[in-house]
Amino acid sequence: MASTSTEECLPVVGDAAYRDDRDHRVGAGRMESSVRSMLVELGEDPTREGLARTPERVAKAFRFLTSGYEQDIDAVINNALFTVDYSEMVIVKDIDFYSLCEHHLLPFFGRCHVAYLPRDKVIGLSKLPRIVEVFSRRLQVQERLTNQIAETIVDKLNPLGVGVVVEASHLCMRMRGVQKQNSTAMTSAMRGVFRTDARTRMEFLDLLRPGSSGAGVLRGAAEIENDDDLV
Ligand SMILES: [Zn+2]
Repeated sequence: MASTSTEECLPVVGDAAYRDDRDHRVGAGRMESSVRSMLVELGEDPTREGLARTPERVAKAFRFLTSGYEQDIDAVINNALFTVDYSEMVIVKDIDFYSLCEHHLLPFFGRCHVAYLPRDKVIGLSKLPRIVEVFSRRLQVQERLTNQIAETIVDKLNPLGVGVVVEASHLCMRMRGVQKQNSTAMTSAMRGVFRTDARTRMEFLDLLRPGSSGAGVLRGAAEIENDDDLV
């Protein structure tokens, strides 16, 4: 049952309609034959039992892992913007993400923390992880991923400020090259008052510290989440 266990290492692949559409656009079979060529270049026999369906699986996995290209940010947000009289910092910590480094096509993954200070609108809290997903499921560098998340929130919410911090492990560092097993790369993007006001920035960064309760801010955010459930 070797082939079954191999398939289990794949993530759950998105909906069939979307896949068909993309298969069509990419050109059915082209990606598969590229993977087959790569296996040959690696000195492998792509016809042996364990590899026979590998090109198909790899193509499917990569289409899923880069499905962010196909997603429209406005469709993802789906009007989950609410006008509220709320002027405290909204923060969502520890958003897990998985991405692929564009230099090696190897995974980098970790956690993303997003905060903003509303001007007159808030966004449904569940939309923040969705925004992270749209940009992480592409070929990326961590710096651009961080900026794109911040810019999107600036664009769609026009808040007083946005802070995004991404901490990630890069398998291209861990498995090859310098082989730094435990290093983590951290990037941040600060916009508006998060950039100009040191106190706002410090409040955000303090709340990211392990062990920080952040009770006031998170309670406020939880109230907003109830609105999002209705969307
Ligand atoms: Zn890399």
